[in-house]
Amino acid sequence: MAYTFLGGIHLKENKNTAHMKAELFTDVAFVAIPMQQHIGAPCKPIVEVGDTVTVGQCIGENNEALCCNVHSSVSGKVTALEPRRVANGASVIHAVIENDMQYTVCPDLKPVSKPLEELTAEEVISAVRSAGVVGMGGATFPAYAKIQSALGKVKHLIINCAECEPYITANHRLLLEQPEAVIKGIKILIHTFGVRKATIAIEDNKENAIELLEQKITDKALIDIKVMKTKYPQGDERQIIYALYGKEIPAGKLPADVGCVLFNPETVASIYRALSSGMPVVQKRITVDGDCIKKPCNLIVPIGTSFKDIADRCGGLKKRFARLITGGPMMGQSQWSLDAPVTKGTGALLFFSETKEEIGQCIRCGKCVRACQMHLMPALLAAYSEKGKYEECERLGVMSCVECGCCTYVCPGKVPIVQYIRNSKGAINEQKRLLQQKGGN
Ligand code: SF4
Ligand code: SF4
Repeated sequence: MAYTFLGGIHLKENKNTAHMKAELFTDVAFVAIPMQQHIGAPCKPIVEVGDTVTVGQCIGENNEALCCNVHSSVSGKVTALEPRRVANGASVIHAVIENDMQYTVCPDLKPVSKPLEELTAEEVISAVRSAGVVGMGGATFPAYAKIQSALGKVKHLIINCAECEPYITANHRLLLEQPEAVIKGIKILIHTFGVRKATIAIEDNKENAIELLEQKITDKALIDIKVMKTKYPQGDERQIIYALYGKEIPAGKLPADVGCVLFNPETVASIYRALSSGMPVVQKRITVDGDCIKKPCNLIVPIGTSFKDIADRCGGLKKRFARLITGGPMMGQSQWSLDAPVTKGTGALLFFSETKEEIGQCIRCGKCVRACQMHLMPALLAAYSEKGKYEECERLGVMSCVECGCCTYVCPGKVPIVQYIRNSKGAINEQKRLLQQKGGN
């Protein structure tokens, strides 16, 4: 029987590109690489305009506690260092590099010199940090910091292969195309955490990947595969932990607090590459889909490739798009510019023609309550938030909302519940910040 959790919703999967092998797209004239593609402090450029750079060369760093190095994804010349908007709207310094199309690899890149069994956790953390590995499923939390903070606490190492958002198939294709890189990356993490084994958690709609992994995993005592029901948001780490171990993460706590740590498979493969060749994160796997794009596909692109170059590579647009989303349609971010670049956290580009629906009224059907995986009362939260009653929202647990979007999706009244919830969370956080400031003065 497949593992699952309480609540959630069944979405139309639209995994149109699941059978499409990811194609390497390197024919890009320029890349614009943001100095911040992770949660934490931005990097400072360590190159100057006019410098020649190579693939994998570090071009941005910062020694602050939470930061991730940035590397060049092409070889060529730095033509600008300038602030530009990234996908979430923030203004970040970008290194614009003119691609010489040679893809000359940085000569300084080296694999770690010791066999895995002799590596210390600190050596793994250092290599992962230098390579700029982040949570590549979209979270973008620096992987070295996740490993560091979970050391000594972890009993269950979980590889999150759920990929439960509609349309996205990039991780599914990775498992089919490079299972060895994922398996070797898992072995590195097993060694680093000192756990007995790891679990690959995967939804039952990826049968071919499950079969292939079963063939490729020779040591079944080290890595097991747990098949989960296809349901949204099965990929939410709280839901995976509940589905596999029946454990609930208390509000404000992390998976490591209940003995678990989760990694996305692309992150794991990047960790393997960082240690085996020294190659940092310079490419990203993405799914391109939506009713406006001519040729939906999976691509592997240099970090910093513009959305426009990707749309052109996919045959262009067959009609005007009303919404461009990076990531999945449920939790992804709407974009307004085709000039924004692919970063380490970009999992998909979805071009949709449909426009936003009108704001409606709650008809008290209770569907949002049944759909909520966090057992909240979304209709009430929305109503209180609309009236600015944020204390009531907090009392009802609004800060536990993971913004999965299930409530909005099932709502027949077309109430923009998540939007109200975000407003409420923003207002509560702002109040807390002001109070702290006051206390500090
Ligand atoms: S209230 Fe939050 S956690 Fe619950 S369904 Fe809505 S978005 Fe998801
Ligand atoms: S699903 Fe929509 S209409 Fe139904 S109770 Fe929730 S907010 Fe109201």
